[in-house]
Amino acid sequence: MGGEAFGPRRRSAAVNVGGVMVGGGHPIVVQSMTNTDTADADATALQVAQLAHAGSELVRITVNTEAAAAAVPEIVRKVRGLGVSAPIVGDFHYNGHKLLADYPETARALAKYRINPGNVGSGRHHDDHFEAIVRVAVDNGKPVRIGVNWGSLDQAVLAELMDANARLPQPKEARDVMIEAMVESALRSAELAEMAGLGHDRIILSAKVSGVRDLVEVYRRMATRGDYALHLGLTEAGMGMKGIVASSAGLSLLLAEGIGDTIRVSITPEPGGDRTEEVAVAQQVLQSLGLRSFMPQVSSCPGCGRTTSTYFQELARDVQSYLREQMPLWREAHPGVEELRVAVMGCVVNGPGESKHADIGISLPGTFEEPVAPVFIDGALDRTLRGDHIVDEFKAILDSYVQRRFPAPGAAAIR
Ligand code: SF4
Repeated sequence: MGGEAFGPRRRSAAVNVGGVMVGGGHPIVVQSMTNTDTADADATALQVAQLAHAGSELVRITVNTEAAAAAVPEIVRKVRGLGVSAPIVGDFHYNGHKLLADYPETARALAKYRINPGNVGSGRHHDDHFEAIVRVAVDNGKPVRIGVNWGSLDQAVLAELMDANARLPQPKEARDVMIEAMVESALRSAELAEMAGLGHDRIILSAKVSGVRDLVEVYRRMATRGDYALHLGLTEAGMGMKGIVASSAGLSLLLAEGIGDTIRVSITPEPGGDRTEEVAVAQQVLQSLGLRSFMPQVSSCPGCGRTTSTYFQELARDVQSYLREQMPLWREAHPGVEELRVAVMGCVVNGPGESKHADIGISLPGTFEEPVAPVFIDGALDRTLRGDHIVDEFKAILDSYVQRRFPAPGAAAIR
């Protein structure tokens, strides 16, 4: 997929983050962040590897203390030892200038630094600390993300804009000024970074808020005020369905306008929950929009009164799980398999039609229908399954279709 689903992407500078290209028309990059204590090198390395295996192309870790900073080189070594090459990004607040200066091996080991201009110190310290981090980045040839967050917005910029607004004959709403302050904070910081010697193509900007409408507004403005690569994400999106839906809504609106070069979905996991969920959601957002392909997609109907047993739901779930389990192998052995489209439908009303639009589809018998399940391959009826082994037989059909349609590199596809 070429990433042109809704029209042209916004032109942005390409930034090389440890070998992963962000912006400049490159595929939109999925990233994530660990929630382990970075000082625990084993746990953090393991989670970085898990996130990378799930498909995170950049993984960020917080570097908040001396112990965390000291652990970074070991984390990177351990991650590489696990065979994972994903670049590791350091997230700095308050003391980044000091940690990066005191731990030069850490500065070298990280692929990018994230700085929040609202959290680098205030008054005359603000610019000094900010420039100190930028100089380390310049010396080490690293890019920087200037990540503004409305929860820690640079108060000096906000106060300046609020004062100017109050003097207007018709002052704007406070929300409008806050959004402008976020954009200004990011752009002024980028200007300061360039003045300190950081290349234009070493800067990525983000300005995260927790409301969808505010997010869209802030990024639309930022997108028109320069060509810096943009990192999108709804901050503090929340838990479960709320976080997933809000993130998907905000990101999709912007991505559909061609805005955004890398995304992160910041959902709060359940206690002890799976951190990789945020990667799966980010991938699904991009794939649903037709911007990238990561996984074979299963279309399934919602079911209705014509499907009175749970058999159809179980089949849809089993097929989805089976595809996800096979992907680590298939991705290597069957290039292009992520484009596969599968349909699992509940009855004959829409089943055969939807199945015909998929590469491979099955339509189960609805209530009172004859207990047979027609299977369609490449739009044509291939066979009809019946009996107690429909699930296993359908998986076997999927396997052989993948072998034929997405052959190993060097072999020819058979359709
Ligand atoms: S395909 Fe059949 S079972 Fe599924 S929603 Fe439509 S009518 Fe209901």
